[in-house]
Amino acid sequence: MSGVLTRFMNNAEKCGICLNPVSYQGKLSCCNHNFCFDCITKWSQTENSCPLCKDRFHTITKIVKRTQYRNTRADRPVVIEVSHKNQCAAMRESEMVNILELMLTHELDRLFELLDRLNV
Ligand SMILES: [Zn+2]
Ligand SMILES: [Zn+2]
Repeated sequence: MSGVLTRFMNNAEKCGICLNPVSYQGKLSCCNHNFCFDCITKWSQTENSCPLCKDRFHTITKIVKRTQYRNTRADRPVVIEVSHKNQCAAMRESEMVNILELMLTHELDRLFELLDRLNV
């Protein structure tokens, strides 16, 4: 019994974000990874690359996965477009340090320039 259940669970298409079986799929334009429409829509507000393979996507198509729901007109695939987004947290630490150093150097230059002028 539990073996059958486990096999069923493994075969169910799961969302790569919340790991629940997907009933409304958000199909990405870049790959065939599985996500809930809601999960990937929220994700796309932060970053428009696939959470699993990091490919950029430009549209999310809402598809009803469970056949028993596929009987109304409202359940036809809906395509939404996403804008180009990048997640700041994805920036590597070394890149961050470089940018901070540049900013700091720039500020110091301005400070020394100001001091020079005051001395005159
Ligand atoms: Zn999900
Ligand atoms: Zn992917």
